[in-house]
Amino acid sequence: MFWFRESFGDVEVAFTDRRGGVSTEGRDSLNLGSAGGDTMENVVTNHRRVAEALGVDGLGSMSQVHGASVVAVDALRQDGSGTVPECDALVTDTRGLALLVRVADCVPVLLADADAGLVAAVHAGRAGLVGAVVPAAVQALRARGADALRSWVGPRACGSCYELPAEMADAVEAAVPGTRSTTSWGTPAVDVGAGVVAQLRAAGVVVDDLGAQACTIEDERLFSYRRQGTESGRFGGVVVLR
Ligand SMILES: [Zn+2]
Repeated sequence: MFWFRESFGDVEVAFTDRRGGVSTEGRDSLNLGSAGGDTMENVVTNHRRVAEALGVDGLGSMSQVHGASVVAVDALRQDGSGTVPECDALVTDTRGLALLVRVADCVPVLLADADAGLVAAVHAGRAGLVGAVVPAAVQALRARGADALRSWVGPRACGSCYELPAEMADAVEAAVPGTRSTTSWGTPAVDVGAGVVAQLRAAGVVVDDLGAQACTIEDERLFSYRRQGTESGRFGGVVVLR
C-alpha cells in the first residue's frame, strides 16, 4: 500500500503504490483517481483503505486541472461523489485532516511547517511547473504563518523518459531553466521533478526528494499514464498534521 510512509514530528507523510486495493486492469489495484474509467465504488473503497491505514476519517481530495490555484480547506469535503475543490494545491491547518494529491507521472509534492501547524499537497505536471503552482502553494503557506517549510517530493516520470516535442521542451526550459533534458533514446525531454525541486529550493524550502530515483514510467509498482495509457490508475501523496 505504501511506497513510503514516515512521521516527522507531528507531520505524517506517505506516498502510495499500486498494492492493496480492489481495482482491476490498468487500475490494479490501489487506484485513487476517478479519471481512469474505474468505478466510483472501487475508488471509494481504495480511499477508505488508505484512510484506515493512516488512522484518518478520509482523504481530502481535489479535482486537479493543471493550474496554479491553491485552496484552503478545514474539513473533509469529499464523499466520493466528486464534490471536491477544483485546484492543484490544498492547504490546511486542521489537525487530523489528510490532504491527497493524485498522480501518474506528474510530480506529487507535500509541504509542512509543523511548528506553524500547516500542511499542503500539490500536483505539479509540466503545466503546473511552468504555471508555478508549487511557489504559489509556498506563498499561501507563508501568508498563513509558515516559516520553516519542509517538502517531500514523490515519484514521477524522470527526465530520461519524459519525451516532449522540441518546441515544448524549449518552452519549459525558457520558463524554468535547468529542466531541459534528453531521453535515454536521444530525443528532447523535460525533467519536471528537477524543475519542481529547483522552485522549492529557490523559495527557501528544505527538500527531501524521495522520488529522485523512482521513475513512474520505469517502475511497474507505480501507476504511469505514459506507460499504461488511459486505463492507468492514480497513486497518491498524503500529508496529515497530527
Ligand atoms: Zn524514467
